[in-house]
Formats: sequence, structure tokens, C-alpha cells
Amino acid sequence: MIVKLDQIKGVGPVLLKKFRRQHIWSTYDLVLHYPKRYEDFSIQSLSSAKNLEKITVQGEVIGPIKTNPYGKVHVITCQINIMNESIAVVIFNRKYLVQQLTENAKVIVKGTYHLYQKKIIASYVALVSNQKAIKPYYHIEGIYDRTIQHLIEQIFLEKQVQIFENLPLHLLKKYALIDRLEGYKKLHLPKNFQDIEQAKRRFKYEEAFYLQLQVISQRKRVYRQPKPYDIDRVKTLIKHIPFDLTNDQKRATNDIFKDFKHDYASMRLLQGDVGSGKTIVALIAAYAVVTAHEQVAIMAPTTILAKQHYMLFKQLLKDVNIALISQDTKNKDALKKDIAQGQYDIIIGTHALIEEDVVFNNLGFVVIDEQHKFGVSARQTLIDKGQAKDVLYLTATPIPRTLAMIAYGPSHVSRIKEKPKNRQPVKTLYIDQNDDQKVLQAIKETIDLKQHVFVVVPAITSDKVDNNIETTQDKLKALTNNVFILHGQLTKDNQQTVIEQFKQTQGSILLATTMIEVGIDIPSATLMVIYSAHHFGLAQLHQLRGRIGRGTLKSTCYLVSEKQDLERLSLMTKTTDGFILSAYDLKARGPGDFVGVEQSGYLTFQFLDLTRDTKILELAYDDVKQLLESPDFKTKSQYQYLRNHIKKYKKI
Ligand code: ADP
Ligand code: MG
Repeated sequence: MIVKLDQIKGVGPVLLKKFRRQHIWSTYDLVLHYPKRYEDFSIQSLSSAKNLEKITVQGEVIGPIKTNPYGKVHVITCQINIMNESIAVVIFNRKYLVQQLTENAKVIVKGTYHLYQKKIIASYVALVSNQKAIKPYYHIEGIYDRTIQHLIEQIFLEKQVQIFENLPLHLLKKYALIDRLEGYKKLHLPKNFQDIEQAKRRFKYEEAFYLQLQVISQRKRVYRQPKPYDIDRVKTLIKHIPFDLTNDQKRATNDIFKDFKHDYASMRLLQGDVGSGKTIVALIAAYAVVTAHEQVAIMAPTTILAKQHYMLFKQLLKDVNIALISQDTKNKDALKKDIAQGQYDIIIGTHALIEEDVVFNNLGFVVIDEQHKFGVSARQTLIDKGQAKDVLYLTATPIPRTLAMIAYGPSHVSRIKEKPKNRQPVKTLYIDQNDDQKVLQAIKETIDLKQHVFVVVPAITSDKVDNNIETTQDKLKALTNNVFILHGQLTKDNQQTVIEQFKQTQGSILLATTMIEVGIDIPSATLMVIYSAHHFGLAQLHQLRGRIGRGTLKSTCYLVSEKQDLERLSLMTKTTDGFILSAYDLKARGPGDFVGVEQSGYLTFQFLDLTRDTKILELAYDDVKQLLESPDFKTKSQYQYLRNHIKKYKKI
């Protein structure tokens, strides 16, 4: 039953048009359009009110009512009796109240109390009979809140809207949640603030439930045999690694090995700060898969990184055939042929791996390094080349726990928190743009020590940002001849050359855009200067900072900016914990920063707060999983609605 709004008493053509402009066509649409905020109209006593306090009082009009009909601002002044005290009430620009404020009318007045003048400058006045203790504000353009409230009351009273329950009853019971109809009633017509809280609790759970339903039902389980890896050979490898694994590295490795033992393919996110040592974990896992006689593909976002991995793998895995495939690989055709015939156990590469004619031979495991650097489709293309799609994603982005959990499921995220020993924490300082001399001085001192300096600016050239490569290079060149410049408009070959030259020139500066966010590993880099730091998200600044402090030398990071952004940037100076920083970003900027704007659409909620409601998301995850696995779900009619709902997702 859909009731169009024009069937409702009191909705004429003008009002109808205004509603339709907000895409509100039916009573159901209107009910779903719940208040944006509430104001408390619980009555206070005047005797305890202080001068200039904002108060809400109830009284009786005792006249006389004065107006100034010809002034620019319409002012009403009237006397009201509040507990036998006569108080003047001043009301601006509410002409319509003149008719309502008749003698003896009972009114509620909200406003600023002027104790010594016995006066209230009113921000709001209403007749008592019209006013509830809590006033909802709808903010629909051109429509009075009280008009909406009237309509809503009438709609509920005369049952002109049908609201179905959309959560399984056993879950409502489990958490003592109110039903959906009750929830909307309480949102629109709350008697007190508990009503609103109760309704919000229900709708938060509803949102979490439907999000998890979408996520989990889209995740297909692909069954395969447990991987018959050779644990003895793996143990021998671990013994030969030139350092001891940290506890977190061991834990992450165990998580992956557990995945291998399942009879279905795994998808795992390995999250660890820059320099926390994710590569070695991936290497151990890759080796295990090789001992199970399956191929492994490892995809990295840049040629520099792919090469770096290739060298490391070659060095540690002497008994394994490893191939490197990137844009500048020579003899690509021959190499591809060998890969297809299974001559190679591990294939490391860039985007080149996803080219159509790269054919694998029994590909059993895919590792995607710096996963956020690849689009969804690039990752999927590579994964689809595998037999059973076991995937390990590596990321240094401190994706907030809630988001990681939504994307991968709570038990499929491993984290490396502790850093390898012997690292020195990077010192971070905020510098005002006007104190640039201090920064240049620090750069000079660092290059005099024959160490490496990174200088990052937000753009190559732009009239919108003061600091860009064009405007910055001259002042750096005044310090030394050894200034190297790196940005995305150089060819890949040139980029590689620039980095090599920078690496090999002691006491040099690399002036770059954020390109250097990933991959560059130069232990003697000890200074990072980020100009116009306010242009970057905290997570991104944290990534950039991760380029220094990789060796045993003391390192410093300067954030150069203008005062306005001090609060956010000063957080960088106080913590090196990427998760704290990303939680701030999530709050301030929304999930788009983490999951890509195109995916963030389904992460916008009306009630759920991604930074806070982790617990609710976890509960909903377990509930949905259990529900989907229960035999009743597929057969019982009470779940028909949810089954149809899932079909809708699958069509998308
Ligand atoms: P990321 O997690 O940023 O990819 P890497 O895997 O590149 O980090 O590791 C950074 C550096 O730390 C590498 O040089 C690596 O050899 C070293 N490393 C990794 N794990 C350990 C450890 N447990 N002890 C000492 N050094 C380690
Ligand atoms: Mg890495």
C-alpha cells in the first residue's frame, strides 16, 4: 500500500510541489525523511535561571501586545506571566504570532533571559497545545517544521503508511531492539531523548545488518583442496632469513598458513606500517605455495618496487625459479611462454602481469603489494587468472579497523604493529611557511652530512598552490647542485634513472610530488620536508614520513604549512601511530580516502558511525553469517524478503 501525499488532508498543490522537489512523493517517503536534529523544550523554572542564559519557559500572555508594523524589522513585545512574575518577551520577525498571542494564551518561550530587565529575547514562541517537549527540525526548504509534524502525526494516527519490519525477529529479540514502525514513530514524535536513542540504536543495527548482508552474500566461497605445503622446507627457509621475525610477523605468517589449510580459497589483508616488514611474510607464504607445487604471482605498483622484491626473493630463495616481468622486460614473449609452461615458480611484476597474454600455469596464490595503488578491476583481473583465488593483499595504509573488517571480514585481517628492532622514531616538526629559512637551513645541514633529503610538494606546476616543483626548485638549487626532480610526467625510464642517481649521490635532494609515497627504500634518507602539508590527508603524510627513518640514523620530518591547519597537522607531531591518524581522517574526510571514491557510496550511513560503531558492525557480521549459513534461511518464508534482497545485489 503506497499512499501518495496528495491523498493526505492538508497537502495542497503548493505543498506537494515543495515535497516533490525533495523527492518525497508518498507518506512512506516522508516518514523515511526523519528529523535532522532536535531541540529540547523541556520546561525550566525561571527562578534558577541566570542572566543571559538560554532558557525555555512556559507562561500566560497578560498583554499588552505591541508591534511596530512599519519598521524594517517586525517586533512584537508582550508581557507574560510566569509563576506570578511578569516578564517582557521580545519577538523579532514573527508577524504570524500576533494572532496567536491573545490574552490568557498559554505559550512556550525559548530565548535568552535578561535577568535585570526582566526580559526574554525570544528565539522561539509557540502555543502550549502545539508544542512537544522535544521539537524535531526537518530542514525541508520552504516547509515549516510544524506543518511536517502535523502531517506525520496524522499519517501515523490514521495508519496512512505501511512500514514492514525488515530485520529477523530473533535478532530484534536478541538485542531488545524496537520494531521498525516504532522506530520511525520515535524518531518523529519523541516523548523524550531516550526515545530518540532507542530508535537510533535500532536503525544503526539495521544499517550494519544490511551492509554485512551485502558484503557477505557477495563473497563467494571457492572450494579447493588444502594446500599440501612442505612445512619442513618452510622452517629451513625461516632459519636462513638473516633476522628474527617479530612476533607480529610470526602471527601474520601463521594466519596465512591457517588459510592454506582450509578447504576453500582465502582472501587476507596484511596491514602493517611502512617498514614494518610485510615483504618477508609474503615471501614465506609464497615459498610455502611453491613447495605445494603451485605458481605464485606477486604484483607491485611500480617497476622500482617489483625489482626490489625480485632481488630479495632471488637472494633468499635459491632453489626457486623466479621471473621478473615489467614494462621494460626484454624478451617478453619468450618469458611469457616459459611462465605458461610452468618453468617459473614465482612471477614478480607490475601491471604487466595483468596483460591478456600472460598465462599462468597452476597459479595458486596471488600477492598484491600496496593494494590501494591498484584499481579494483586490475586486482580482479590478476586474481581471475588463478585456479582457486587465494589472495594476500599487503597495505601500509592504516585502513581503520571498521573498514578493513567490512571489506575482508573480521578474521581476515592480519596486522603488524611492532617495528623491527633498531629503528629510531622519526621526529616530526611543524613549521610555519614564514619560517622557511629554518627549513632550508636544516636541508643544508643534512646534505653537508652526506645524507639524503626528500622535499615533497603538492603539484608540478599550478597557480593554485604556492609550493610546487616550479616554484621550489630554485631555492633548493641555491643550496646544492645535486637536486633531482621526480614527478609523474617523466617517462617510467626517466623516473627510474632519477631515483638511481639520487640514491647514488650522497648529500642530494629529491624534489618530488607524492609519487614517492611507495617503494623507495633509501636507508640514508634522514630528512623529509613536506611543503603545503595542509593539502594532504594524515594517512598520506604518514606514508610520506615512512620514507625516512628506515636505517639506524636519526631522522626528521618537517611539515611546512600555514597556521590554519595547525590542529590537524599537530597530530602528526604527536603520534607515529598510523591508526590514530587514519581514524582522524575517517572522521574528518569520510571513507572515500580509504576505499576509493567509487566504492565509498555504499559506506554512507544515516545512523552508523564508522569511527565508533565497530562493535555493532562486528555483531551484525556474526549474525548475518550465522543466518546465511542456517538451513532455515534458504527455505523458510519469513526470510523470503531477505533472499529477494540478496538477489538484487547480485544483479548489480
Ligand atoms: P614494508 O612493510 O614497508 O613493505 P619491508 O618489508 O620493505 O617493509 O621491510 C622494511 C625493511 O625491514 C627491509 O629492509 C627488511 O629487510 C627489514 N626487516 C623486515 N623484518 C625485519 C625484522 N624482523 N628484523 C629486522 N629487519 C627486518
Ligand atoms: Mg612494502
